[in-house]
Amino acid sequence: MPMSKEPYRILIVDDTPENMEIIGKLLESEGYDLYLAENGQSALTLAQKVDFDLILLDIMMPILDGFQTYSEIKKLKPLDPTPVIFLTAKVDIESVIKGFEIGGADYVRKPFNGLELKARVKYQLQLRSMKQEIAYQNKCLQEANQKLQAYATTDPLTQLFNRRKITELIQYEMERSKRNQTGFSIMIGDIDHFKNVNDTHGHSFGDFVLEKTSRRFIESVRSQDSVARWGGEEFLILMPETDAQGAGILAEKLRTVISETAYEYSSGVLHITMTFGVCSYDGAQSLEQLVKRADDALYFGKVHGRNRVILWDESIAALDD
Ligand code: GH3
Ligand code: MG
Ligand code: MG
Repeated sequence: MPMSKEPYRILIVDDTPENMEIIGKLLESEGYDLYLAENGQSALTLAQKVDFDLILLDIMMPILDGFQTYSEIKKLKPLDPTPVIFLTAKVDIESVIKGFEIGGADYVRKPFNGLELKARVKYQLQLRSMKQEIAYQNKCLQEANQKLQAYATTDPLTQLFNRRKITELIQYEMERSKRNQTGFSIMIGDIDHFKNVNDTHGHSFGDFVLEKTSRRFIESVRSQDSVARWGGEEFLILMPETDAQGAGILAEKLRTVISETAYEYSSGVLHITMTFGVCSYDGAQSLEQLVKRADDALYFGKVHGRNRVILWDESIAALDD
């Protein structure tokens, strides 16, 4: 990590021992952690084991020359390759250009000036630290953004989508439906007499019932369906590419699953029931109309005995007038 106080690790690659010694002496005084390799192959082997901050790389070496060596070293960490300073007696301009083209950070011709080399090394290390710091900050920002995104779209008690998120998903489904002529349906389910649950067993048991009910829903729907907490003890399920009949079947399945679920408390188990209102998108409703119809169907079910599934139809709309 960029904040660590560990000395920078520098790899010096040169097939001439005298050169290696001169460079080593020069940089030793800076407190760097120096590693030496006398050819490209051993440089590569070292780079596989050690995460270097900088490589000083000779070009004219037998077997693997400096350019080939760096091409191989870059493959070890393609997204964040260790920077290299070519340090070479190859002074022709084509080589200098090639050095930069293959990704070299700098190119220093031999014989070099010691102070200048030190300054260039220092500059490359600072640049690398800055890059790592930026990458680290970016990662933190991304993580913070993901958390914010989750907060903004998730209900904290049940971990289901919240009302805002499911509204967005319905809107998206309406657009998709208009483009592709694919229908979809929604259902709103409301726990029957939930107030009694709270009054009899306390609010935290009520919360537990909401959580367990949510889990049951998630376990019972298809992966393309979305489940949201629409309000206190109301849930909305969006079912893409599902007609009223299919949605009714799922609602009936959920009604049964919930009625068969045991909600344990210290001295017994509680059973609850739910009432569901289902409505399909007809290609023309507004979001508000669609939700209202599901809600009207739900209300109809509440009035007519609860613990049932009602599919919206025109007769329910007539009651509203
Ligand atoms: P109905 O069958 O007509 O739906 O009756 P109900 O008692 O379920 O409906 P009502 O709307 O009268 O009561 C809903 C209750 O849900 C009241 C409220 O305190 C409770 N509630 C809403 N949100 C929460 C919550 O987050 N946790 C708990 N424990 N209770 C909640
Ligand atoms: Mg209720
Ligand atoms: Mg309610």
